[in-house]
Amino acid sequence: MIIDILTLFPEFFDNLYNYSIIGRAIDNNTVNIKSTNIRDFSKDKHKKVDDYPFGGGPGMVMMPGPIYDAINHVKTKDSKIIYLSPQGKPLNQNIANSLAKEKHLVLLCGHYEGIDNRIIENYIDMEISIGDYVLTGGEIPALVLIDCITRLLPNVLSSEESFMDESHYGGLLEYPQYTRPREFNGHSVPDVLLSGNHKEIANWREKESIRVTFEKRPDLINHKK
Ligand code: SAM
Repeated sequence: MIIDILTLFPEFFDNLYNYSIIGRAIDNNTVNIKSTNIRDFSKDKHKKVDDYPFGGGPGMVMMPGPIYDAINHVKTKDSKIIYLSPQGKPLNQNIANSLAKEKHLVLLCGHYEGIDNRIIENYIDMEISIGDYVLTGGEIPALVLIDCITRLLPNVLSSEESFMDESHYGGLLEYPQYTRPREFNGHSVPDVLLSGNHKEIANWREKESIRVTFEKRPDLINHKK
């Protein structure tokens, strides 16, 4: 998969190459992540990319020209152009699963008061929000999207790290996890996990997954297909 990030802060993404599972996926060429500075496409001698909103009001709006040119610079016939936006579809595991099948994602990060609406209306395939709150820019949402998609790509997680049991993949939350020591400040690990009986462990995990979901996120049970 190729991921192109269009941003005013390309250096924000520099550390991805050293970051855990994503770094590994970049190293073995499962994902190729590039960031492009939208400012490089400004035709203004001061490299200006924003202007006052028509109709007045606070803040600045990112102008359509540099964004349009930046999109065209990276776009191919396989591209899906995504604008990270608080007005987008709320990101969830199903959206991540479906985006993980794409060949080329272009992630457009807004800033200031956002971007000129003509870009959203005419040149974007999808708007994605990472939650019902407003952040300063689309860079952190783009990181969130990159992380949750990259770990779904083939051969990124080892079989021990499989995402199949994890929260949200099958519509439920994951069962509780424990590691050494067996006793911690008088709190012990459930006996069944030490029994060596794989069938009983699998049954316990299935029941716990349902219990935990009921307790923490009953709304997920109602929405489970
Ligand atoms: N004025 C816009 C509004 O009220 O809808 C908010 C603009 S926000 C300050 C600046 C940029 O941050 C947006 O263009 C978007 O790219 C990004 N952003 C902010 N919150 C976000 C969220 N919850 N999910 C995804 N992107 C977000």
